[in-house]
Amino acid sequence: MLSKSKYISGLQCPKLLWILINQPESIPELDIVTQYIFAQGHLVGEYAKQLFPGGIDIPQNDFMENIAETKKLLAQRKPLFEAGILAGRIYCRVDILNPANEDKWDIVEIKSGTSVKDVYINDVSFQKYCCEKAGLKIRTCKLGFINSQYVKNGEIDPKELFILEDISTHVEETSHGIEERVADLLEVLSNKVAPDGAIGKHCLAPYECPLQAECWRFLPENSIFDLRGGKTKQFSLYEQGILSIKDIPDDIPLSRQQRIQKKCVMTGDVHVEKKEIRQFLSKLQYPLYYLDFEAFGPAIPIYDGTRPYQDIPFQFSLHVVEREESEPLHHSFLAEGTEDPRPQILHELKRLLGSGGSIIAYNAGFEEGVLEGLVEALPEYTDWRDGILARMVDLLFPFSKFHYYSASQKDTASLKKVLPVVTGKGYEEMNIGAGMHASIAYGRMMCGNATEEEITRVRADLIKYCSLDTEGMIWIVDELRRLSG
Ligand code: SF4
Repeated sequence: MLSKSKYISGLQCPKLLWILINQPESIPELDIVTQYIFAQGHLVGEYAKQLFPGGIDIPQNDFMENIAETKKLLAQRKPLFEAGILAGRIYCRVDILNPANEDKWDIVEIKSGTSVKDVYINDVSFQKYCCEKAGLKIRTCKLGFINSQYVKNGEIDPKELFILEDISTHVEETSHGIEERVADLLEVLSNKVAPDGAIGKHCLAPYECPLQAECWRFLPENSIFDLRGGKTKQFSLYEQGILSIKDIPDDIPLSRQQRIQKKCVMTGDVHVEKKEIRQFLSKLQYPLYYLDFEAFGPAIPIYDGTRPYQDIPFQFSLHVVEREESEPLHHSFLAEGTEDPRPQILHELKRLLGSGGSIIAYNAGFEEGVLEGLVEALPEYTDWRDGILARMVDLLFPFSKFHYYSASQKDTASLKKVLPVVTGKGYEEMNIGAGMHASIAYGRMMCGNATEEEITRVRADLIKYCSLDTEGMIWIVDELRRLSG
C-alpha cells in the first residue's frame, strides 16, 4: 500500500521507498532532533484544530478502525480531523477534511513550517488524488502554516498563529501525471529487489535521506563532498568521476579555501596563517569574557511578546579572564521553573559583563541575535546592549577565513569540530553534546513531565555542556597564541 508519506519518499528516491516497505529494519531509528520536530508538528496540529470548531477527532490508533470511522462520519458533514481515506492500494490521512457546499470537501494540510514548499504541494496533491479515487468531491486544497510574524499576547490565537493559503491551483498543476507516478511507485514497492540508487542531490532534499550513511559509504575519506563551496561544485566533480579531494586535477579551478583543503589532505599538514591569526588576537582586550548562550525556539510561542521559533535564551556560560596570567573565573546561569527567563538573564549579564574588555563568542552572530531579541522585550537595556555589541569578537573568524585549517575539520568550522581538532579535547563523554540537544532537554524539563531526579540530572548535563563551550574557547585562544607566536 502507498501512503502519502511513502509517496513523498518514492518521489525523492524509489530505492528509499522500496526499503521503507520491504526492509524497514534497515532504516535507522529517528534521532532526538527529528523526534522533537515531529512532536512540535503534533502540537501545531492540535492548535490548528481550533480553527474548525465542532470538528471531530477520529481515533488514529487502529488503521482499519480509523478508516471505517471516517466512512461513517463523512455523512455528518462536520470538520473531520485525521480522516483516513483508503482507495484501492493507496491511502492517506487528511489533517482536516472540512465540509464545503452541499457535497464537497476542502482538504486542509497543516505544517509547522513558515512558508509553502513544493514538497507540501506534492503531499496535498496525493491526498486529493486519493480522496477523489475514494469518491469524495474536493472543492479546494489549503495549506495551514505558521505565521512567523505572530506575536503572542495572552492566550494563543490560532487565527493569528496560522496562515491558511489556498493552494488549489498549485495542486492542480502538480497533479498532472499523478496517476502514472502512483502506478510506477506501486510497481516499485511490489518488486522483489530494490531499484538501483545512484546518489545525487535528491539524497539531501526535500529531506535528508535516512539511508545516506549506507548509500554514501563507498566514498573515500576526505571525499569531494567534504569540499567547501556548496553542493553544485561537489556534484559536478562527482559527475566527472572524481571521488577524493586529493584526486582533483590541477586544471580544475578551486577557490582559495578549496586549495587549502586539497593541500592539507595531500600533505596531512595543518594550515596556519600566523600573521592573520596574530592580527585577530591583537583585537582581544582584557578582561576577556567568553560567552555562550543556549536557547530554545518553540513553534508555539510560550512567553508574551515572542514570535514562533524565536530563540529564547534559557542558559549562559561565562568564563572571565582578567589578565593574561589570571585563572579563568566561571559564571553560569540556567533558568529554573517555567517563568520567562529573559529578565533575569539580562540582569545577570549586566552585572557580570562589566564595562570594558572583549566579549568573545563562537559564531557571535547567534549571541548578537539573542541579545537583540532580549532587548526587543526589555528596551530599557538598549544602550547597554549597544555597548556590549561593540565589544563582541567572533572566534569563528580565523576558522571561517581558513587562517587555521586541518583536514579533520572536513567542511565545517563549527566549534564542535574545531575544539577537538585544535585542542584534542571534545564532547564525547557528554550526555548533551550539541546545542539542539540542549534546547530539547530544556524543553522537556519545561513541559513539567520530568521527575525531580531527571531535572537534577539534565540541569547538571546542561551546565557541563555549556561550560565546555566557553572553557573550550579559552583553550582555542591559548592554542592560537602558541601556534602564531
Ligand atoms: S541515500 Fe540517496 S540513493 Fe540512497 S536511498 Fe536515499 S535518496 Fe536514494
